[in-house]
Amino acid sequence: MKLARLTDGKPEIFFTIQGEGRNAGLPSVFIRSSLCNLHCRWCDTDYTWNWEGTPFHHDREGESGYAKYRQEEQIVECSIEEVAEQAAASGCANFVFTGGEPLLHESDWVALMVELQQRLGDACHFEIETNGTRLPGRKLLELVDQLNVSPKLANSGMKREQRIREDVLRNLTRTGLADFKFVVDSEEDLSEVKELVDLAEVAPHRVFLMPKGITVAQLDDRAAWLVRECQANGFRFSDRLHVRLFGARRGV
Ligand code: SF4
Repeated sequence: MKLARLTDGKPEIFFTIQGEGRNAGLPSVFIRSSLCNLHCRWCDTDYTWNWEGTPFHHDREGESGYAKYRQEEQIVECSIEEVAEQAAASGCANFVFTGGEPLLHESDWVALMVELQQRLGDACHFEIETNGTRLPGRKLLELVDQLNVSPKLANSGMKREQRIREDVLRNLTRTGLADFKFVVDSEEDLSEVKELVDLAEVAPHRVFLMPKGITVAQLDDRAAWLVRECQANGFRFSDRLHVRLFGARRGV
């Protein structure tokens, strides 16, 4: 399967704590696939898609030291057995599959979950993060415990027809496995959040508002009014605990 590379060239598989959503604080093993079908302007894992020669725009372009990535340097191809071996090494059985867009590699995750269950048994708990543009099939839904769906708002810079698939969002809700997490930049984003919550028929307690930010100061600034918005609507607040604890770095 195609995984993102850490700066030392190894596949991006790491034991840390979940920083976002309902399992924030839970020790977890993250496995990051490469490639994405969206190209959000503020994406903090743009090394999974912002390749040299592509027309995609990222907010960091123009920043000193920032350059588009060489695709062949950012992807490492691993067998399912290799990924399972490394993922199981810590003994932790909580796994978070992330990207990029992990559901571009659906059959690989199915095979990996089967392999991990064979090694670690029923203790395995699987979360998949997704941008909500693809509906997983039956096999994946039977194996996964939780879907962390993060539909992208207009603040991503993506056209609505690329980032919002209404039928997919509603069907993700109907799986009963999905939390919806929105990355909120400004108070202007909130009307769109509420529109998407209605459209996807999501219960408020399955909705997380999370501040956009890669520094503690940015998170704190947005959290101040975002918490009030959660109180007013029955939504949950999600911090980005990993940013507070480790900073915005790869592999943490
Ligand atoms: S969907 Fe996620 S991984 Fe893909 S570009 Fe947007 S923020 Fe990045």
